[in-house]
Amino acid sequence: MTAQAAVITPKEDPWQMALRQFNIAADQLPLKRGIRELLAYPKRELTVNFPVKMDDGSVRIFTGYRVHHSTVLGPTKGGIRYHPDVTLNEVRALAMWMTWKCATVGLPYGGAKGGVVVNPKELSREELEHLTRRYATEIGILMSPEGDIPAPDVGTNPQIMAWIMDTYSMHRGYSTPSVVTGKPLAIGGSFGRIEATGRGVTFVTREATRHLGMPLAGAKVAVQGFGNVGAVAAYLLHDQGCSIVAASDSSGGVHNPKGLDPRALVKFKEDRGSVTGFPSANRVTNEELLEVSCDILVPSALEAQITASNAGKVKARLVVEGANGPITPDGDEVLEARNVLVVPDILANAGGVIVSYFEWVQGLQQFFWTEEEVNQNLERIMVRSFGQVLRGSLDRKVSMRTAALIRAIERVADALMTRGIYP
Ligand code: GLU
Repeated sequence: MTAQAAVITPKEDPWQMALRQFNIAADQLPLKRGIRELLAYPKRELTVNFPVKMDDGSVRIFTGYRVHHSTVLGPTKGGIRYHPDVTLNEVRALAMWMTWKCATVGLPYGGAKGGVVVNPKELSREELEHLTRRYATEIGILMSPEGDIPAPDVGTNPQIMAWIMDTYSMHRGYSTPSVVTGKPLAIGGSFGRIEATGRGVTFVTREATRHLGMPLAGAKVAVQGFGNVGAVAAYLLHDQGCSIVAASDSSGGVHNPKGLDPRALVKFKEDRGSVTGFPSANRVTNEELLEVSCDILVPSALEAQITASNAGKVKARLVVEGANGPITPDGDEVLEARNVLVVPDILANAGGVIVSYFEWVQGLQQFFWTEEEVNQNLERIMVRSFGQVLRGSLDRKVSMRTAALIRAIERVADALMTRGIYP
């Protein structure tokens, strides 16, 4: 893995994507070569292979990762993903994006990410608990409330955070709630954390439509991914008068040009496990969903969904990245040439980590906020960050992604130079 090679051979690999995005922004900055190279490398990477006792008495070996991209601005922060396609390169990219995300919105964190190669839907609750507790133990050498604070991501949830918190606390001999965020309320979670990412998506969507002069009421929205980000964004945008014309999950999607009821869709998915089969809607594939007629597209599933081959077919004028890395750099170029505004992941989906930060601060202070306080502070940070990134984009005549990255890289580089190179 070299930072330079990535520029020469860009692939649709998330790490190659992250490096290419980084290089586009870094080219605009007067960074010294060594500093630029340092910012491109992950600081440390841990791979763990560990056994889990399965319900039938057998033992299965799983592979997991935890990558710290940067510790310059503070402790590392970032979720843990359970997905069968997790790779070290994906976790590297997600960790780097966390560094830029935290810096874009001004949080005192560096970036990290973790992942386990597993399909959590195939495990029983007991197996999932065993896997989580063993993985938490394996990465325990990197985790702490002052050093590295995990959170939920694709395939993980508040219950899994509770098991991680409990495992870490058992090893310590005392309760350490601030070692993870996204915890259930009963053990020190924050009001508003579950909805935070989707809520943040709606704030920046509103700001972007204002900028474009596009009325939010009546705007047609398509949402790829109907999990904790996409589903929440869908019903909160619906509350603001948007029409949700399409939604999908890993099994496929549903489309109705006249609009779907997102709360009924949430209920349907809870009962049936998928949005597919929802009454009075046509079935669409995940690929078709990206090309349906709509004003706003919210890709909220996985990386590299919009590429050079389908970006030309996106009908939306505005794309808001609920997911991390849903548009490849080639896809970005096509959208930019077509004048489609993209609100990048490191800004658009920062609501999750912002409220994680609130949860961490509340836990450390043992002083808890109301849901209203959480949501108001979230809105303030999202709106301010959106305005700063938009201004940077207009001033420098670059995309909002590049503007956000420039801002983030400048912040981290400034802190790095101020701290100095040790020894
Ligand atoms: N996994 C989320 C993200 O990608 C949240 C991370 C966190 O709260 O630390 O931003």
